[in-house]
Amino acid sequence: MKKIILVRYGEIMLKGLNRPYFEERLVRNIKSSLSDLGRVDVIKSQGRIFIEPADDEYDFDKALDRLTRVFGIVSVSPVLKTEADFDSIQQNSVLMVKKLLEKNNHITFKVETKRGDKTYPMKSPEISKKLGAHILRSFPRLSVDVHNPDFILFVEVRDHAYIFTEIIPANGGMPTGTNGKAVLLLSGGIDSPVAGWMVAKRGVEIEAVHFYSYPYTSERSKDKVIDLTRILSEYCGAIRLHIVPFTEIQLEINEKCPVDQLTIIMRRFMMRIAEIIARKNGCQALVTGESLGQVASQTMESIVVTDSVVNMPVFRPLIGMDKNEVINIAKKINTYETSILPYEDCCTVFVAKHPQTRPRLEKTEHFEKVLDTEGLINRAVENTEILTVTSRDAVSFS
Ligand code: ATP
Ligand code: MG
Repeated sequence: MKKIILVRYGEIMLKGLNRPYFEERLVRNIKSSLSDLGRVDVIKSQGRIFIEPADDEYDFDKALDRLTRVFGIVSVSPVLKTEADFDSIQQNSVLMVKKLLEKNNHITFKVETKRGDKTYPMKSPEISKKLGAHILRSFPRLSVDVHNPDFILFVEVRDHAYIFTEIIPANGGMPTGTNGKAVLLLSGGIDSPVAGWMVAKRGVEIEAVHFYSYPYTSERSKDKVIDLTRILSEYCGAIRLHIVPFTEIQLEINEKCPVDQLTIIMRRFMMRIAEIIARKNGCQALVTGESLGQVASQTMESIVVTDSVVNMPVFRPLIGMDKNEVINIAKKINTYETSILPYEDCCTVFVAKHPQTRPRLEKTEHFEKVLDTEGLINRAVENTEILTVTSRDAVSFS
Protein backbone atom coordinates (compact mmCIF):
# COMPACT_ATOMS: atom_id res chain seq x y z
CA MET A 1 0.00 0.00 0.00
CA LYS A 2 1.18 3.46 -0.83
CA LYS A 3 -0.14 6.91 -0.18
CA ILE A 4 -0.29 8.94 -3.39
CA ILE A 5 -2.07 11.93 -4.89
CA LEU A 6 -4.56 11.74 -7.73
CA VAL A 7 -4.82 14.82 -9.93
CA ARG A 8 -7.82 15.37 -12.22
CA TYR A 9 -7.75 17.80 -15.08
CA GLY A 10 -10.67 18.78 -17.17
CA GLU A 11 -10.74 21.15 -20.05
CA ILE A 12 -7.36 20.29 -21.50
CA MET A 13 -8.76 16.84 -22.22
CA LEU A 14 -10.81 18.44 -24.97
CA LYS A 15 -7.91 19.80 -26.93
CA GLY A 16 -7.66 16.99 -29.47
CA LEU A 17 -4.27 16.76 -31.13
CA ASN A 18 -2.82 19.41 -28.83
CA ARG A 19 -3.68 17.39 -25.79
CA PRO A 20 -0.17 15.97 -25.20
CA TYR A 21 1.20 19.53 -25.31
CA PHE A 22 -1.17 20.69 -22.57
CA GLU A 23 -0.61 17.56 -20.51
CA GLU A 24 3.16 17.83 -20.70
CA ARG A 25 3.04 21.45 -19.64
CA LEU A 26 0.73 20.58 -16.76
CA VAL A 27 3.11 17.86 -15.61
CA ARG A 28 6.00 20.30 -15.82
CA ASN A 29 4.12 22.92 -13.79
CA ILE A 30 3.15 20.31 -11.19
CA LYS A 31 6.77 19.20 -10.85
CA SER A 32 7.98 22.73 -10.42
CA SER A 33 5.30 23.58 -7.85
CA LEU A 34 6.36 20.58 -5.75
CA SER A 35 10.09 20.75 -6.47
CA ASP A 36 11.25 21.53 -2.93
CA LEU A 37 9.06 18.99 -1.14
CA GLY A 38 11.07 15.88 -1.97
CA ARG A 39 11.35 13.38 -4.80
CA VAL A 40 8.13 12.32 -6.52
CA ASP A 41 7.21 10.31 -9.59
CA VAL A 42 4.61 12.09 -11.68
CA ILE A 43 2.78 9.55 -13.81
CA LYS A 44 0.27 10.34 -16.52
CA SER A 45 -2.30 7.61 -17.04
CA GLN A 46 -5.69 7.46 -18.73
CA GLY A 47 -6.53 11.13 -18.43
CA ARG A 48 -5.28 11.54 -14.89
CA ILE A 49 -2.01 12.27 -13.18
CA PHE A 50 -0.69 10.30 -10.23
CA ILE A 51 1.91 11.73 -7.91
CA GLU A 52 3.88 9.12 -6.02
CA PRO A 53 6.31 10.39 -3.37
CA ALA A 54 9.50 8.39 -2.87
CA ASP A 55 9.47 9.05 0.85
CA ASP A 56 6.90 8.08 3.51
CA GLU A 57 7.50 11.34 5.36
CA TYR A 58 6.28 13.37 2.38
CA ASP A 59 4.31 16.48 3.34
CA PHE A 60 1.00 15.61 1.68
CA ASP A 61 -0.93 18.55 3.12
CA LYS A 62 1.50 21.06 1.70
CA ALA A 63 1.59 19.29 -1.66
CA LEU A 64 -2.21 19.15 -1.88
CA ASP A 65 -2.46 22.81 -0.99
CA ARG A 66 0.06 23.78 -3.67
CA LEU A 67 -1.61 21.61 -6.30
CA THR A 68 -4.97 23.32 -5.80
CA ARG A 69 -3.23 26.45 -7.10
CA VAL A 70 -1.79 24.93 -10.27
CA PHE A 71 -3.96 26.02 -13.20
CA GLY A 72 -5.31 23.19 -15.30
CA ILE A 73 -6.06 21.03 -12.26
CA VAL A 74 -9.75 20.53 -11.50
CA SER A 75 -9.43 18.58 -8.27
CA VAL A 76 -7.01 16.49 -6.22
CA SER A 77 -7.43 13.57 -3.86
CA PRO A 78 -5.15 11.89 -1.34
CA VAL A 79 -5.38 8.25 -2.32
CA LEU A 80 -4.33 4.84 -1.03
CA LYS A 81 -2.95 2.77 -3.88
CA THR A 82 -3.15 -0.93 -3.10
CA GLU A 83 -3.03 -4.29 -4.79
CA ALA A 84 -6.28 -4.88 -6.64
CA ASP A 85 -7.35 -8.05 -4.80
CA PHE A 86 -10.50 -7.63 -2.74
CA ASP A 87 -8.79 -8.37 0.59
CA SER A 88 -6.35 -5.52 0.12
CA ILE A 89 -9.20 -3.24 -0.90
CA GLN A 90 -11.10 -4.10 2.29
CA GLN A 91 -8.14 -3.69 4.61
CA ASN A 92 -7.04 -0.39 3.17
CA SER A 93 -10.57 0.99 3.01
CA VAL A 94 -10.85 0.38 6.74
CA LEU A 95 -7.57 2.23 7.28
CA MET A 96 -8.78 5.16 5.21
CA VAL A 97 -12.16 5.40 6.92
CA LYS A 98 -10.50 5.14 10.33
CA LYS A 99 -8.30 8.14 9.51
CA LEU A 100 -11.30 10.08 8.28
CA LEU A 101 -13.40 9.36 11.36
CA GLU A 102 -10.60 10.59 13.63
CA LYS A 103 -11.15 14.03 12.13
CA ASN A 104 -14.91 14.04 11.52
CA ASN A 105 -18.18 13.12 13.14
CA HIS A 106 -19.47 11.41 10.04
CA ILE A 107 -22.28 8.95 10.56
CA THR A 108 -23.53 8.01 7.11
CA PHE A 109 -21.65 6.89 4.03
CA LYS A 110 -21.85 5.02 0.78
CA VAL A 111 -19.35 3.24 -1.42
CA GLU A 112 -18.90 4.13 -5.07
CA THR A 113 -16.90 1.80 -7.23
CA LYS A 114 -15.52 2.28 -10.72
CA ARG A 115 -14.00 -0.61 -12.55
CA GLY A 116 -11.42 0.28 -15.21
CA ASP A 117 -10.38 -3.36 -15.46
CA LYS A 118 -13.35 -5.18 -16.93
CA THR A 119 -11.74 -8.59 -16.35
CA TYR A 120 -11.86 -8.09 -12.60
CA PRO A 121 -13.75 -11.02 -11.02
CA MET A 122 -16.31 -8.83 -9.24
CA LYS A 123 -18.58 -6.23 -10.82
CA SER A 124 -18.78 -2.68 -9.44
CA PRO A 125 -22.12 -3.01 -7.57
CA GLU A 126 -20.91 -6.19 -5.95
CA ILE A 127 -17.67 -4.55 -4.80
CA SER A 128 -19.62 -1.61 -3.37
CA LYS A 129 -22.06 -3.85 -1.56
CA LYS A 130 -19.49 -6.20 -0.03
CA LEU A 131 -17.12 -3.41 0.87
CA GLY A 132 -19.98 -1.39 2.41
CA ALA A 133 -20.92 -4.38 4.56
CA HIS A 134 -17.30 -4.76 5.67
CA ILE A 135 -17.10 -1.08 6.65
CA LEU A 136 -20.36 -1.37 8.61
CA ARG A 137 -18.95 -4.32 10.53
CA SER A 138 -15.73 -2.46 11.28
CA PHE A 139 -17.35 0.81 12.41
CA PRO A 140 -20.57 0.23 14.34
CA ARG A 141 -21.29 3.97 14.52
CA LEU A 142 -21.71 4.21 10.74
CA SER A 143 -24.76 3.56 8.63
CA VAL A 144 -25.39 3.65 4.90
CA ASP A 145 -27.23 6.48 3.17
CA VAL A 146 -27.08 6.25 -0.60
CA HIS A 147 -28.85 9.58 -1.22
CA ASN A 148 -27.18 12.05 1.10
CA PRO A 149 -24.18 10.46 2.80
CA ASP A 150 -21.76 12.36 5.04
CA PHE A 151 -18.93 10.86 3.03
CA ILE A 152 -18.35 8.64 0.03
CA LEU A 153 -15.76 5.94 -0.06
CA PHE A 154 -14.54 5.85 -3.65
CA VAL A 155 -12.83 2.77 -5.03
CA GLU A 156 -11.37 2.60 -8.51
CA VAL A 157 -10.14 -0.74 -9.72
CA ARG A 158 -7.55 -0.65 -12.48
CA ASP A 159 -4.08 -2.20 -12.52
CA HIS A 160 -4.18 -1.38 -8.82
CA ALA A 161 -7.00 -0.28 -6.57
CA TYR A 162 -7.27 3.40 -5.70
CA ILE A 163 -9.19 4.28 -2.55
CA PHE A 164 -10.15 7.78 -1.45
CA THR A 165 -12.76 9.78 0.43
CA GLU A 166 -11.74 13.35 -0.28
CA ILE A 167 -12.06 15.34 -3.51
CA ILE A 168 -10.48 18.75 -3.04
CA PRO A 169 -11.55 21.25 -5.71
CA ALA A 170 -8.93 23.33 -7.56
CA ASN A 171 -9.33 26.24 -9.96
CA GLY A 172 -9.39 24.50 -13.32
CA GLY A 173 -8.24 26.68 -16.21
CA MET A 174 -5.33 25.95 -18.53
CA PRO A 175 -1.71 25.22 -17.57
CA THR A 176 0.31 28.42 -17.28
CA GLY A 177 2.48 28.86 -20.35
CA THR A 178 0.15 27.21 -22.85
CA ASN A 179 -1.45 30.41 -24.05
CA GLY A 180 1.22 33.01 -24.70
CA LYS A 181 2.59 35.79 -22.58
CA ALA A 182 1.15 39.14 -21.50
CA VAL A 183 2.22 42.16 -19.51
CA LEU A 184 0.11 42.81 -16.42
CA LEU A 185 -0.03 46.41 -15.22
CA LEU A 186 0.15 45.68 -11.53
CA SER A 187 -0.67 48.39 -9.03
CA GLY A 188 -0.90 47.80 -5.32
CA GLY A 189 -4.70 47.85 -5.48
CA ILE A 190 -7.37 45.18 -5.31
CA ASP A 191 -8.20 44.91 -8.98
CA SER A 192 -5.04 44.33 -10.96
CA PRO A 193 -3.87 41.21 -9.07
CA VAL A 194 -7.30 39.70 -9.71
CA ALA A 195 -7.09 40.63 -13.39
CA GLY A 196 -3.67 38.98 -13.62
CA TRP A 197 -4.95 35.87 -11.89
CA MET A 198 -7.88 35.58 -14.29
CA VAL A 199 -5.73 35.84 -17.38
CA ALA A 200 -3.10 33.49 -15.94
CA LYS A 201 -5.89 31.02 -15.27
CA ARG A 202 -6.41 30.80 -19.01
CA GLY A 203 -2.82 29.63 -19.48
CA VAL A 204 -1.18 33.01 -20.03
CA GLU A 205 2.28 33.60 -18.63
CA ILE A 206 2.46 36.93 -16.80
CA GLU A 207 5.21 39.53 -16.86
CA ALA A 208 4.31 42.24 -14.32
CA VAL A 209 4.98 45.97 -14.66
CA HIS A 210 4.68 48.40 -11.77
CA PHE A 211 5.02 52.18 -11.99
CA TYR A 212 6.75 53.55 -8.97
CA SER A 213 6.92 57.21 -7.95
CA TYR A 214 9.61 57.32 -5.31
CA PRO A 215 9.75 59.27 -2.97
CA TYR A 216 6.07 60.17 -3.43
CA THR A 217 5.32 56.51 -2.94
CA SER A 218 7.35 54.70 -0.31
CA GLU A 219 9.61 51.65 -0.29
CA ARG A 220 6.80 49.92 1.52
CA SER A 221 4.43 50.40 -1.38
CA LYS A 222 7.01 48.67 -3.57
CA ASP A 223 7.31 45.80 -1.09
CA LYS A 224 3.55 45.48 -1.21
CA VAL A 225 3.64 45.00 -4.97
CA ILE A 226 6.42 42.43 -4.59
CA ASP A 227 4.24 40.61 -2.04
CA LEU A 228 1.29 40.63 -4.42
CA THR A 229 3.50 39.28 -7.19
CA ARG A 230 4.66 36.54 -4.84
CA ILE A 231 1.07 35.52 -4.14
CA LEU A 232 0.32 35.42 -7.87
CA SER A 233 3.44 33.31 -8.41
CA GLU A 234 1.94 30.61 -6.19
CA TYR A 235 -0.49 30.10 -9.05
CA CYS A 236 1.65 30.71 -12.08
CA GLY A 237 5.26 30.06 -11.13
CA ALA A 238 8.07 32.62 -11.22
CA ILE A 239 7.04 36.09 -12.40
CA ARG A 240 9.36 38.81 -13.61
CA LEU A 241 8.42 42.15 -12.13
CA HIS A 242 9.52 45.34 -13.91
CA ILE A 243 9.60 48.33 -11.62
CA VAL A 244 9.46 51.46 -13.73
CA PRO A 245 10.54 54.78 -12.20
CA PHE A 246 7.58 57.06 -12.83
CA THR A 247 8.35 60.17 -10.79
CA GLU A 248 9.87 62.25 -13.56
CA ILE A 249 6.92 61.58 -15.85
CA GLN A 250 4.38 62.45 -13.18
CA LEU A 251 6.19 65.64 -12.20
CA GLU A 252 6.41 66.75 -15.83
CA ILE A 253 2.74 66.09 -16.50
CA ASN A 254 1.82 67.79 -13.26
CA GLU A 255 3.82 70.86 -14.18
CA LYS A 256 2.92 71.19 -17.84
CA CYS A 257 -0.57 69.82 -18.42
CA PRO A 258 -4.02 70.98 -17.27
CA VAL A 259 -4.99 69.44 -14.01
CA ASP A 260 -8.10 67.66 -15.32
CA GLN A 261 -5.90 65.87 -17.93
CA LEU A 262 -3.34 64.51 -15.44
CA THR A 263 -4.87 61.09 -14.99
CA ILE A 264 -5.61 60.35 -18.61
CA ILE A 265 -2.16 61.50 -19.78
CA MET A 266 -0.50 59.51 -17.03
CA ARG A 267 -2.44 56.41 -18.07
CA ARG A 268 -1.35 56.87 -21.67
CA PHE A 269 2.28 56.91 -20.49
CA MET A 270 1.71 53.72 -18.54
CA MET A 271 0.29 52.00 -21.58
CA ARG A 272 3.08 53.12 -23.91
CA ILE A 273 5.76 51.93 -21.51
CA ALA A 274 3.96 48.66 -20.83
CA GLU A 275 3.79 48.03 -24.56
CA ILE A 276 7.52 48.61 -24.99
CA ILE A 277 8.27 46.20 -22.15
CA ALA A 278 5.82 43.71 -23.64
CA ARG A 279 7.50 43.76 -27.06
CA LYS A 280 10.96 43.43 -25.53
CA ASN A 281 9.86 40.34 -23.62
CA GLY A 282 7.84 38.44 -26.18
CA CYS A 283 4.45 39.43 -24.75
CA GLN A 284 1.53 39.88 -27.12
CA ALA A 285 -1.01 41.70 -24.97
CA LEU A 286 -1.47 43.99 -21.98
CA VAL A 287 -3.71 43.27 -18.98
CA THR A 288 -5.23 45.84 -16.64
CA GLY A 289 -7.62 45.72 -13.70
CA GLU A 290 -10.07 48.24 -15.07
CA SER A 291 -13.82 47.83 -14.91
CA LEU A 292 -16.19 49.99 -16.84
CA GLY A 293 -17.23 53.19 -15.12
CA GLN A 294 -15.51 52.42 -11.81
CA VAL A 295 -13.57 55.70 -11.75
CA ALA A 296 -13.03 58.66 -14.08
CA SER A 297 -10.24 56.93 -15.99
CA GLN A 298 -12.41 53.91 -16.63
CA THR A 299 -15.28 55.45 -18.55
CA MET A 300 -15.76 54.32 -22.12
CA GLU A 301 -14.31 57.63 -23.38
CA SER A 302 -11.24 57.35 -21.16
CA ILE A 303 -10.58 53.81 -22.26
CA VAL A 304 -10.78 54.89 -25.91
CA VAL A 305 -8.25 57.67 -25.31
CA THR A 306 -5.98 55.37 -23.28
CA ASP A 307 -6.01 52.55 -25.80
CA SER A 308 -5.28 54.77 -28.76
CA VAL A 309 -1.59 54.85 -27.80
CA VAL A 310 -1.09 51.09 -28.00
CA ASN A 311 -0.95 48.65 -30.84
CA MET A 312 -1.64 45.42 -29.09
CA PRO A 313 -4.76 43.96 -27.46
CA VAL A 314 -5.50 45.21 -23.96
CA PHE A 315 -7.27 42.58 -21.87
CA ARG A 316 -9.52 43.85 -19.10
CA PRO A 317 -10.94 40.72 -17.52
CA LEU A 318 -12.81 42.72 -14.86
CA ILE A 319 -14.56 45.00 -17.32
CA GLY A 320 -18.07 43.83 -16.44
CA MET A 321 -17.58 43.23 -12.73
CA ASP A 322 -18.77 45.14 -9.72
CA LYS A 323 -16.24 45.91 -7.01
CA ASN A 324 -17.81 43.35 -4.71
CA GLU A 325 -17.37 40.59 -7.22
CA VAL A 326 -13.72 41.53 -7.59
CA ILE A 327 -13.25 41.62 -3.83
CA ASN A 328 -14.70 38.13 -3.52
CA ILE A 329 -12.15 36.78 -5.96
CA ALA A 330 -9.35 38.75 -4.27
CA LYS A 331 -10.28 37.08 -0.99
CA LYS A 332 -10.45 33.66 -2.57
CA ILE A 333 -7.02 33.96 -4.18
CA ASN A 334 -5.52 35.53 -1.05
CA THR A 335 -4.45 38.90 -2.45
CA TYR A 336 -7.10 40.94 -0.66
CA GLU A 337 -5.40 41.36 2.72
CA THR A 338 -2.23 42.60 1.06
CA SER A 339 -4.06 44.86 -1.39
CA ILE A 340 -5.87 46.75 1.35
CA LEU A 341 -2.70 47.67 3.23
CA PRO A 342 -2.79 51.44 3.25
CA TYR A 343 0.34 52.40 1.30
CA GLU A 344 -0.11 55.11 -1.28
CA ASP A 345 -0.17 54.43 -4.99
CA CYS A 346 1.30 56.62 -7.70
CA CYS A 347 -2.20 57.27 -9.07
CA THR A 348 -3.33 58.79 -5.82
CA VAL A 349 -0.40 61.13 -5.41
CA PHE A 350 -0.95 63.44 -8.36
CA VAL A 351 -4.64 63.44 -8.84
CA ALA A 352 -7.15 66.11 -9.78
CA LYS A 353 -10.23 66.71 -7.68
CA HIS A 354 -12.30 66.59 -10.84
CA PRO A 355 -10.53 64.55 -13.49
CA GLN A 356 -11.90 64.48 -17.03
CA THR A 357 -14.50 61.73 -17.25
CA ARG A 358 -15.18 62.30 -20.95
CA PRO A 359 -11.76 63.11 -22.43
CA ARG A 360 -11.50 63.73 -26.17
CA LEU A 361 -8.59 62.27 -28.04
CA GLU A 362 -7.64 65.42 -29.99
CA LYS A 363 -7.69 67.52 -26.86
CA THR A 364 -5.56 65.12 -24.84
CA GLU A 365 -3.11 64.77 -27.72
CA HIS A 366 -2.93 68.53 -27.94
CA PHE A 367 -2.08 68.95 -24.25
CA GLU A 368 0.50 66.17 -24.44
CA LYS A 369 2.45 67.98 -27.16
CA VAL A 370 4.35 70.09 -24.64
CA LEU A 371 5.95 66.97 -23.19
CA ASP A 372 9.12 65.27 -24.40
CA THR A 373 7.24 61.98 -24.59
CA GLU A 374 10.03 60.00 -26.22
CA GLY A 375 12.75 61.20 -23.84
CA LEU A 376 10.61 60.62 -20.77
CA ILE A 377 9.70 57.12 -21.89
CA ASN A 378 13.26 56.18 -22.84
CA ARG A 379 14.64 57.25 -19.49
CA ALA A 380 11.92 55.39 -17.60
CA VAL A 381 12.50 52.19 -19.57
CA GLU A 382 16.30 52.44 -19.24
CA ASN A 383 16.09 52.80 -15.49
CA THR A 384 13.59 50.02 -14.98
CA GLU A 385 14.58 47.51 -12.34
CA ILE A 386 13.71 43.87 -13.06
CA LEU A 387 13.15 41.36 -10.28
CA THR A 388 12.27 37.70 -10.46
CA VAL A 389 9.68 36.83 -7.86
CA THR A 390 8.77 33.29 -6.85
CA SER A 391 6.62 31.97 -4.05
CA ARG A 392 9.59 30.46 -2.25
CA ASP A 393 12.97 32.03 -3.00
CA ALA A 394 14.26 35.44 -2.10
CA VAL A 395 13.69 38.04 -4.78
CA SER A 396 16.45 38.00 -7.38
CA PHE A 397 17.55 40.97 -9.45
CA SER A 398 18.54 40.79 -13.10
P1 ATP B 1 -6.27 48.63 -8.94
O1 ATP B 1 -7.12 48.17 -7.80
O2 ATP B 1 -5.77 47.50 -9.78
O3 ATP B 1 -5.21 49.59 -8.49
P2 ATP B 1 -8.04 50.75 -9.54
O4 ATP B 1 -9.47 50.43 -9.50
O5 ATP B 1 -7.42 51.42 -8.37
O6 ATP B 1 -7.25 49.43 -9.90
P3 ATP B 1 -6.75 52.67 -11.28
O7 ATP B 1 -5.89 53.13 -10.17
O8 ATP B 1 -7.45 53.64 -12.14
O9 ATP B 1 -7.88 51.65 -10.82
O10 ATP B 1 -5.88 51.79 -12.22
C1 ATP B 1 -6.44 51.08 -13.30
C2 ATP B 1 -5.46 50.02 -13.75
O11 ATP B 1 -4.25 50.63 -14.18
C3 ATP B 1 -5.05 49.09 -12.65
O12 ATP B 1 -5.96 48.03 -12.49
C4 ATP B 1 -3.72 48.61 -13.13
O13 ATP B 1 -3.85 47.62 -14.12
C5 ATP B 1 -3.14 49.87 -13.79
N1 ATP B 1 -2.33 50.63 -12.81
C6 ATP B 1 -2.71 51.65 -12.02
N2 ATP B 1 -1.69 52.09 -11.25
C7 ATP B 1 -0.62 51.35 -11.59
C8 ATP B 1 0.75 51.31 -11.17
N3 ATP B 1 1.22 52.11 -10.24
N4 ATP B 1 1.56 50.40 -11.74
C9 ATP B 1 1.09 49.54 -12.67
N5 ATP B 1 -0.17 49.53 -13.11
C10 ATP B 1 -1.03 50.42 -12.58
MG1 MG C 1 -5.33 51.71 -8.14
